[in-house]
Amino acid sequence: MVACDPPRRAELLDRATLVLNRSWRPVHVTTVRRALCMVFREAARIVATDTLSTFTFEEWLEQPVPHGAPAIRSPSLRLQVPEVVLLTQYDRVPCHEAPFTRRNLFLRDDYTCQYCGRRCTTDHLSVDHVLPRSRGGGTSWENCVLACVGCNARKADRTLKEAGLRLLRPPTRPRWTPYLTLRPSQRMESWSKFTTDRRRSANM
Ligand SMILES: [Zn+2]
Repeated sequence: MVACDPPRRAELLDRATLVLNRSWRPVHVTTVRRALCMVFREAARIVATDTLSTFTFEEWLEQPVPHGAPAIRSPSLRLQVPEVVLLTQYDRVPCHEAPFTRRNLFLRDDYTCQYCGRRCTTDHLSVDHVLPRSRGGGTSWENCVLACVGCNARKADRTLKEAGLRLLRPPTRPRWTPYLTLRPSQRMESWSKFTTDRRRSANM
């Protein structure tokens, strides 16, 4: 593989790259390192995010690197770091389910109390069972929401009706997307061209 300043190279090679299936639908997020390997093996082509033209590894090497664009450099070449690659064979969409975990619940509800709409830090939020467990409410996507300390205390072991509270929106199982495990800061602006769901933190 091509060389450049080691710390910088490692950082660039670990950056996130969006993987599209053959039908241009996002299916995965990988590292630049693995994306370049796929392109090198001809399992994928690099997508120029401005023109949407696609390139083989050799063709990409011949492309001029735009001024200021991140690139992997060696004495003899400069390779622009790809942000999106297109698989050449795979055309399915993986059928995953977002696992019900505390972390994913925080992402779904965007660190926001689902009763008063206040955005809080993790310390000030807890997982509330909409139908209390004492009334047979389950621990599931459909019965759990984030609640701030105040709303949680107000609701206590009561139903919505008893507590006179309303939910901002009905809790549902979130849709899985390739961005499930990525922090918003790790996502590339150019990826928005390939997805219709641009909600920041609820992208699951
Ligand atoms: Zn609240």
